[in-house]
Amino acid sequence: MTSETRERQELRAAVSKFAAGYGPKYMDQCWKADEYPWDLWREAGKLGFLGVNIPEEFGGGGAGMYELSLVAEELNAQGSGLLLMVVSPAICGNVINRFGTDEQRQQWLPGLGDGSKILVFGITEPDAGSNSHRITTTATRDGSDWLLTGRKVYISGVDVADAVLIVARTEDAKTGSLKPALFIVPRDTPGFEYRAIEMALRIPEHQFELAFDNIRLPAESLVGDPDAGIMQLFAGLNPERIMAAAGGVGTARYALRRAVDYAKTRTVFRTPIGAHQAIAHPLAQIKVEMELAKLMMQKAATLYDAGDDTGAAEAANMAKYAAGEVGARAVDQAVQTLGGNGLTVEYDLGTQLANSRLMRIAPVSREMALNYIASTTLGLPKSY
Ligand SMILES: Cc1cc2nc3c(=O)[nH]c(=O)nc-3n(C[C@H](O)[C@H](O)[C@H](O)COP(=O)(O)OP(=O)(O)OC[C@H]3O[C@@H](n4cnc5c(N)ncnc54)[C@H](O)[C@@H]3O)c2cc1C
Repeated sequence: MTSETRERQELRAAVSKFAAGYGPKYMDQCWKADEYPWDLWREAGKLGFLGVNIPEEFGGGGAGMYELSLVAEELNAQGSGLLLMVVSPAICGNVINRFGTDEQRQQWLPGLGDGSKILVFGITEPDAGSNSHRITTTATRDGSDWLLTGRKVYISGVDVADAVLIVARTEDAKTGSLKPALFIVPRDTPGFEYRAIEMALRIPEHQFELAFDNIRLPAESLVGDPDAGIMQLFAGLNPERIMAAAGGVGTARYALRRAVDYAKTRTVFRTPIGAHQAIAHPLAQIKVEMELAKLMMQKAATLYDAGDDTGAAEAANMAKYAAGEVGARAVDQAVQTLGGNGLTVEYDLGTQLANSRLMRIAPVSREMALNYIASTTLGLPKSY
């Protein structure tokens, strides 16, 4: 996009060049070896890419979600997406920066920015799923401490995290609309149990079930005000959706590039397959939809960075929906374009089929994104 500032264009070029040195082969090797992509993560941290949104006073780049989503888009466009960027610098970095105490900001932000610390995020529960108003993880005061009891599911990256930012509700607000209370729970807290879920995905990041029964947390584990209401949580969920959109846009770019390169040269009748409209039009359509999703993602990030959480929520849901759809369709169409090669491991597109479905399910499903737009934007009545 040529209207981007010179700084943003330079950042884009630098991340793209860096990410090309890793790519899908590296990610797949990590998956096969059951290793977190530490080299990529640490180098991205050292170069300042993971912390572009962290304030300069904490060692970060002092920019915002526009830049962080730009980094995620470029990583994904090279087949080197880092799922934990969604949770560590984006959700947790923003929530702690905006609502944390000075001590919490000092303790976490420099490490989240350079990648030396990882914070992951736990909201999903087995019995609540998409309905976060139904979460039952409960925090009870005990003197100045908190006792936390609950279960979470599909929490990414717990094995490599220093701590999990857990969304709970306080004993006083146990029922009704969610008044989230956010707690930083170190992974080594006595009684904090986590178990890997075997997923049908080919990504090097693992997902976990969590269980904790009356684990004891000091007062300073609480982030923000338990009475602040839902907007405090949206300070994290809007960045989450913007980053998910960046993943979708980047994945669409990656798959499209691979498909176009192939379609230009593969000839089985008289002309390259890309000359057949049945191959060309779906790719052209993906290009259009990808560019539109990207614009909406940039709008969402711009609104968020300007402090408009409500405007950002609408745009982030739209961007997440559009990018998730085009990302998943792009991978599917790229596989189709490559024919049998599309399903080989060597061409690494078929291996992304299941991964690309993730964009329609998490962090917010396409149905819940559409529900938001139907009820909040259009004012339609709710079925739920
Ligand atoms: C790989 C992966 C990583 C994840 N990482 C994290 C993480 O780090 N932290 C975290 O907290 N969570 C994480 N999640 C959880 C993710 O956010 C949820 O899976 C997602 O929000 C959907 O919830 P659910 O799986 O319980 O589905 P459900 O809520 O059970 O929904 C099932 C289906 O029903 C549809 N549905 C439900 N209600 C409605 C409705 N009212 N209208 C229309 N359709 C509806 C949904 O859209 C979906 O298609 C992750 C999930 C995956 C797969």
